[in-house]
Amino acid sequence: MKLYNTMSRQIEEFVPIVPGKVSMYCCGPTVYNYAHIGNLRTYIFEDVLKRTLERAGYEVKHVMNITDVGHLTGDGDDGEDKMEKSAREKGQSVWDIAEFYTKAFFRDEEALNIIRPDVVCKATDHIQDMIALIKRLEEGGHTYTSGGNVYFSIDSIPDYGKLARLSLDDLKSGARIEVDSNKKNPKDFVLWFTNSKFSGQAMIWDSPWGRGYPGWHIECSAMSMKYLGEHFDIHCGGIDAIPVHHTNEIAQSEAATGKTWVNYWCHGEFLLMGNAKMSKSSGGFVTLPSLESEGYEALDYRYFCLTGHYRSQLKFSYEALDAARTARKGLMERLASLRAEAEQQEEVSDSAKSYMKAFDEAMENDLGAPQAVSILWKMVKDNSLSAYDRLSAAEYMDGILGLRLDRKEEKKEERIGSDEDWALVEERKEAKKNKDYKRADEIREELRKRGFSVKDTPSGAILEKIV
Ligand code: AMP
Ligand code: ZN
Repeated sequence: MKLYNTMSRQIEEFVPIVPGKVSMYCCGPTVYNYAHIGNLRTYIFEDVLKRTLERAGYEVKHVMNITDVGHLTGDGDDGEDKMEKSAREKGQSVWDIAEFYTKAFFRDEEALNIIRPDVVCKATDHIQDMIALIKRLEEGGHTYTSGGNVYFSIDSIPDYGKLARLSLDDLKSGARIEVDSNKKNPKDFVLWFTNSKFSGQAMIWDSPWGRGYPGWHIECSAMSMKYLGEHFDIHCGGIDAIPVHHTNEIAQSEAATGKTWVNYWCHGEFLLMGNAKMSKSSGGFVTLPSLESEGYEALDYRYFCLTGHYRSQLKFSYEALDAARTARKGLMERLASLRAEAEQQEEVSDSAKSYMKAFDEAMENDLGAPQAVSILWKMVKDNSLSAYDRLSAAEYMDGILGLRLDRKEEKKEERIGSDEDWALVEERKEAKKNKDYKRADEIREELRKRGFSVKDTPSGAILEKIV
């Protein structure tokens, strides 16, 4: 198995620490809003990596965190806690916000056929582990307290910024934005906040440094080491995590243990909307439920992601998603007719096996999913193979691609309401988009007269019969 390691900027032969086993940590979502399909691209890449490692014979322990505290809106310890901000805007408690968006995230993961990690750990359940790690850093002389907060001093270690290859100039130039005057070095970062910038911070805990809450980066170090040990194989995330989040995770973990923390750093490239990174703050924010409400299946999006290499940027467009949908449907139809004609064989033929081998080789070469998908197509179209061969090989390949190609076409549920009723639902959606709430309410009333109540769900409005 070969993998690109961001630390060395090279494709390397993967050698696990313990033969036959892989320990893998992936930074999980910050649950203050729906994940957008860019975030989901990263989790699909990690799922494909895990499946490929398992196919290669490794036993994988996959750990993912849920960030439900401490992630500020700015990377340089500026801004406010994303969770608190979201709770205030929505008029709900932070705990409710966390629960709601964690559920929404797992619904998306299930729809995308992403295998649930072996350990899913919430930051708020691990505050004591974080405090213990900060204490260890304090004992090692890597911290200082200023303005009530505990900071990590990047000058206390010799190799800060090695993952991102930050130059001395980068380190000197400091934060792009307002520099926290408590910091000795602008790149120092908060381990523990007691001096909250906002009154009424809901999530706070006692600590040796006063009542407060953890900085964002410490959670990943504390939880990964708790579940995978102080030295593990693979750490994943999106490329935006390289310069700050992962850089700081490495600094504090290696400062605490005095040794190498992670052997392979794997990063997924961005999903682009137009020419820019899809992000929660920009306008072009698309969620999986919104695609589903437009008639796509979640797995059409998974297929679309597999058509690009995880280390290349991928441009989202509805045309490309249409093509993915057509392709996936085409594969499912072919498999359905092969299933009808397949006659049991003792084993698959050598030619089918050679397709399967080529597929594995593509995947084991730094996850060559686009190439693997084209091998699947070539194999399915190869008339020299029996129906049984093709069906078996396709199922084998789908074990990695995770497209649920063997699923029988599901009968769509009968839709409630006439086309006219649904035209009203559409009109209400538009009215709400244009903030014309008066019209939206009129339509709700009109639908009520027609015998329906409208319910807004994460995947769009639905009609329910009033009984
Ligand atoms: P967040 O919930 O904001 O912490 O992000 C979750 C994951 O999605 C992180 O690993 C990010 O690096 C990744 N990510 C954020 N934006 C994108 C994007 N446009 N394309 C791919 N991955 C992304
Ligand atoms: Zn992390």
